[in-house]
Amino acid sequence: MVQESTFKINLTEIEGEGEISCPSCGTVISPEDDSEKAYEITEIISREDGSMEKIIVNCKKCKSIIHLKGFELLDEVTEFEDSKKEVD
Ligand SMILES: [Zn+2]
Repeated sequence: MVQESTFKINLTEIEGEGEISCPSCGTVISPEDDSEKAYEITEIISREDGSMEKIIVNCKKCKSIIHLKGFELLDEVTEFEDSKKEVD
C-alpha cells in the first residue's frame, strides 16, 4: 500500500512568485509549469464570487497531496494580464 501524505501551503506566507517546493521530495511546483510533468492539479476550489480559494495538486514524484491556499495576490496579477490581452 502506498502511503500518501497531505500538506497545506499558504502562498501568502512564502516568498517569490508563487513557486513552491514539494514539502516531501523537494520537486519544484511552479504555476508557470503547465506541462504537468512535475505535478498535476486534481481540484480547484472556488469561492462564491468566482475567485480561487484553494488548489489541490498531486506531486507526481512522491504522490503527495498539496493544498495551496492564499491566491488573493496572484488573482490580481492574473486580472492584470487578462486586461492586457483584451487590448490586443
Ligand atoms: Zn513530492
